[in-house]
Amino acid sequence: MTDVSQAGFYNTSAWKKLRNVFIKTYPLCKDCEKQDRLVPAKYVDHIVPLTLENFWEYGLDWNNLQSLCAKCHQKKTNRSKTNSKYSATNLQRGKELQNKFNDFTNGNK
Ligand SMILES: [Zn+2]
Repeated sequence: MTDVSQAGFYNTSAWKKLRNVFIKTYPLCKDCEKQDRLVPAKYVDHIVPLTLENFWEYGLDWNNLQSLCAKCHQKKTNRSKTNSKYSATNLQRGKELQNKFNDFTNGNK
């Protein structure tokens, strides 16, 4: 085993369920939305890239997820090869998502 997908994480029913709920909640690509483009998301991406060491902690963390289209997902994957640390940008994104999620749950009461 060298990475998370080989460890079978993406085949777990827990991940599949969470992914389905998340993409229904956030159906648009986050990165495209920042540039005022509305693009349907295809992937649920982990803001903090998963490793074998952290996936139990971050793999199913709603605040660590973002919806991305295929293009943005590919860009992110390329980027994370050189930058896989818990960066300030990633932390900020996590906070934004958490706020959005709070708005969403509050708005549905
Ligand atoms: Zn996109």
